[in-house]
Amino acid sequence: MSKYYAKYGVLELDAAGKVVCGFCGAAFESLGRHIQQKHGYSAAEYKEYWGLNRNTALTSALLSDKRRIFCKMIGKTVVNPKPFTKGWRGRTREVMREETRLRLTQLAKEIRG
Ligand SMILES: [Zn+2]
Repeated sequence: MSKYYAKYGVLELDAAGKVVCGFCGAAFESLGRHIQQKHGYSAAEYKEYWGLNRNTALTSALLSDKRRIFCKMIGKTVVNPKPFTKGWRGRTREVMREETRLRLTQLAKEIRG
């Protein structure tokens, strides 16, 4: 990979407000699945690679709005429009954190062989 599509520390958006993949330049409403499937990066790894704050959502403003509207519909007050807010889909932040830790541990094992 010689050409990059994003600057270090900047979440690039295209004219439509979609998030641009720093590796291949493709734009998506949400980058998470793309970077995992096409580039083998988790969201956390991608953010670290590109120097993004780990609280930065890899989603377009449009999708964030949709998420906020959806939460309003189901009667949730969105204090912080992130996918892993406490109680999201019945999973607490602690459970999410543990799942993430296990996933990273497994990934580290795979990398070491
Ligand atoms: Zn890409």
